Amino acid sequence: MRRTPALIVGGGPAGAAAAITLARGGVRAELIERREGPHDVVCGGFLGWDALAALERLGIDPFALGARPIERLRVTGGGRIVEAKLPRRTAGLSRRTLDEAMLAAASAAGAEVRRGRKVLSADLDTRTVRIGDGEEVEAQALFLATGKYELRGGARPETATAAVGLRTSIPAPAQLEGQIELHLFDGGYAGLLVQDDGSANLCLSVSRERFRNAGGVEALAGQLGLEAPALGPYLAQAAPASWAAVAGVPYGWRAADTLPGLFRIGDQGAVIASLAGDGIAIALESGMAAASAMLKGGAAAAPAFQRGFARRAARPLAVAETLRHAAEHPRPRAVLMRLLQMMPGLAPLAARLTRIG
Ligand SMILES: Cc1cc2nc3c(=O)[nH]c(=O)nc-3n(C[C@H](O)[C@H](O)[C@H](O)COP(=O)(O)OP(=O)(O)OC[C@H]3O[C@@H](n4cnc5c(N)ncnc54)[C@H](O)[C@@H]3O)c2cc1C
Repeated sequence: MRRTPALIVGGGPAGAAAAITLARGGVRAELIERREGPHDVVCGGFLGWDALAALERLGIDPFALGARPIERLRVTGGGRIVEAKLPRRTAGLSRRTLDEAMLAAASAAGAEVRRGRKVLSADLDTRTVRIGDGEEVEAQALFLATGKYELRGGARPETATAAVGLRTSIPAPAQLEGQIELHLFDGGYAGLLVQDDGSANLCLSVSRERFRNAGGVEALAGQLGLEAPALGPYLAQAAPASWAAVAGVPYGWRAADTLPGLFRIGDQGAVIASLAGDGIAIALESGMAAASAMLKGGAAAAPAFQRGFARRAARPLAVAETLRHAAEHPRPRAVLMRLLQMMPGLAPLAARLTRIG
């Protein structure tokens, strides 16, 4: 068995942020990512101002990568449309582009980035992972960054409210430039924005129950087209086979504690309702904070980091859960939309309260 000082499982924003920070701090960091090359991710691609600030701290300029600035929010639901100016500049960037840039930055910083290798299982007590071809690695510090995917031996608990995420891209309508659109419906919402390649990222989050009852993405799109007329034309442009899906997203869950030497980061540490558009910022902040904690206090710093990050994530997660519950049910949705329309300051306030940064 091989031994290593810092092993990161997963090369999304959390894992890459940890790898960059550790490598810059002088620790030999090894990152394992199962995807071999550039790939799409089930994600809306919205970068809040806290995500932009975190990327800047990591030395990554999303606008140089083609990110599209977003200044306005448009929410449709309950028969109403609400438009608001966002408090600060935000952006739209595909995860295909962002994740590649972050992994390249991790390599450039000196981390060993191993792609096309899947970690098969982990023993968290001994911080040992099995990678395949008989390779076993014991890490002094193990960073669990598998995001939306569970690692055998390290899975998050099942939650009753787990959602299904869906994503595709469609031609971008002209009115979408500079704006993010949210369409609220029973059991979920759809988000749209223009991304770096000029197409629109169309993302849906739907309760497991609603997805099951619909019987699949094509049938769900058909139902939503009738239910949410403003969303229908977008859904009609998406080829049925183009949808990518991820199941079992445990919104609202966070790791309250951990074992010494085990750092849970990104979605493996805290999962904010995607409606809030702050999961990438949480991934970046937790990856950087965990790596900084290890640089300062060694592997033993993991439990204090985890408890501290859980406290830090508590407010954004709670506010996002309240908004999600209101948005998903007809009566609270009608009240929410009326309030948003009556009080123009409410949407920017909600955007502020759901930021980790
Ligand atoms: C429908 C939906 C829309 C969203 N929209 C937004 C948005 O617009 N803005 C926003 O900020 N957040 C959004 N989020 C949340 C955001 O996508 C996540 O919070 C974020 O991706 C978490 O980053 P991560 O690095 O923890 O995990 P991930 O991005 O999931 O990355 C995990 C990485 O680990 C790799 N991996 C997994 N298992 C293994 C293994 N066994 N071995 C090796 N590698 C492995 C995967 O291939 C992947 O590259 C959305 C979420 C959903 C579900």
